[in-house]
Amino acid sequence: DFSVSVPVQSHDELGELAQSIQTLANDLNHIKQERNDFLASISHELRTPLTYIKGYADIARRTNLSPQERTHYLQIIGEESERINRLLEELFYLARMDQNEFLITKERVRLFPFLHSIYERVLPAFLNKNIQLHLDSDHDVYVDIDPSRFGQVLSNILDNALKYSNEGTATTIRAFKKDWNVVISITDQGIGIPDEDLPYVFERLYRVEKSRARMTGGFGLGLAIAKQLVEVHGGSISVESRLGEGTTFTIVLKES
Ligand code: ADP
Repeated sequence: DFSVSVPVQSHDELGELAQSIQTLANDLNHIKQERNDFLASISHELRTPLTYIKGYADIARRTNLSPQERTHYLQIIGEESERINRLLEELFYLARMDQNEFLITKERVRLFPFLHSIYERVLPAFLNKNIQLHLDSDHDVYVDIDPSRFGQVLSNILDNALKYSNEGTATTIRAFKKDWNVVISITDQGIGIPDEDLPYVFERLYRVEKSRARMTGGFGLGLAIAKQLVEVHGGSISVESRLGEGTTFTIVLKES
């Protein structure tokens, strides 16, 4: 640990300096702890698919398998490799954003047609699961965004709305002007997020329920990426949810 011993208690400059050093040491320890936790989580995420891959590779090597059985095992190996690949891609994406190597090219975009194109892109998946999708947007609002990056923010949130909602429910995308801002919200009628998890959902690798998350294929990185992208745009993102009733994600951007 970065331990320091600064017993100076005086209220002069030296005392203030001692105080700043103490704060800095605390911050560094906190960062170190977060980094260790993050690495531990990644190792854990990699271990499960690797266990499958190794196990099924051992089985697939057996000589007494039918071709169908062998194909089945090889298919699982392929899927689990794909899962590792997705994890690494998302982590790499976040790392690039951390390094500020990540440039966005903003342009003035009329919001309604932009949202409508995203709406049309995701609609089939919603209809497939018998979930209605609505779009309710002011028509004369402009924002400064990088359309592809900001599109990814909305896709990540809409993917979740789809994943965590049951058949027969509805999801609504709303966008309207408020003062000098534009408020974009996505409301689903899905399973909701427990109060105690709510403060953490934007953290990297945080998932509400690990076993169910594995079935739905998530790593707990989608919202961390969305938040970072919104912040790169100078906006903010927040979440409200009621367990068993649904969830609303709200993004606030400056109007252009
Ligand atoms: P994941 O890829 O696991 O979905 P995210 O970062 O996108 O990761 O979301 C983090 C966690 O927040 C998810 O594991 C899920 O439990 C919860 N969550 C996110 N969006 C919703 C939603 N619309 N409804 C219910 N739970 C959600």
